[in-house]
Amino acid sequence: MSNILIQNYQKVASSIPKDVTLVAVSKTKPKEDISVLYNEGQRVFGENRIEELVEKSQALPSDIEWHMIGHLQSKKVKKIAPFISLIHSIDSLKLLNEVNKEAKKNERIIDCLLQFHIAEEDSKYGFNEKEGTALLQSSEFKEMENIRIVGVMGMATFTENQDQIKTEFETLIQIREKIKELLPKATEISMGMSGDYTLAIQQGSTMVRIGSTIFGHRN
Ligand SMILES: *Cc1c(COP(=O)(O)O)cnc(C)c1O
Repeated sequence: MSNILIQNYQKVASSIPKDVTLVAVSKTKPKEDISVLYNEGQRVFGENRIEELVEKSQALPSDIEWHMIGHLQSKKVKKIAPFISLIHSIDSLKLLNEVNKEAKKNERIIDCLLQFHIAEEDSKYGFNEKEGTALLQSSEFKEMENIRIVGVMGMATFTENQDQIKTEFETLIQIREKIKELLPKATEISMGMSGDYTLAIQQGSTMVRIGSTIFGHRN
């Protein structure tokens, strides 16, 4: 089993340019699988459930960079604030406030991405461009000293239609350009998953979140 995992990983990792960050999405997968990839040199792992993330982070090496990629409830921020290295899924001012507060308690600055809604489906979380830029211009945001917005994140519609995915990725890139006018250091674009990461990289993604192509299908 671990041979297949290593093969999958090496295939994916070698297809990604060096300046693009590979987030290995290990949600639902056992710690043993993470250890296998750790031994191959992978250090960045993405999870979407707090309890699982905390448990894995406590059991696995401390130089792993844990990324929270799923919807985050404000009341759970305190559990990950001591160690999280990037939160991809900031989707409200309330949540960002909470992250700032908990980061302060831990004497840290926590890197965050603003999540934008670019897909057709309305089930997915995220800001639209207007909401995101309004947040960055608010006085509340300007007073937050323990968070750093380093870029944007988005998920394209789950479809075979490459043109549609491309259009949605372009939307996210345009949003990032607007965001950069307000925050020049917000350069990251987290876009691309197993089904669409090649396209995402062609379009300018700086961070891809890949689960099933590496770890196999989830139940
Ligand atoms: C699960 C998940 C991924 C990875 O999905 P795959 O299709 O398995 O690569 C990426 N991003 C987010 C936000 C996810 O929840």
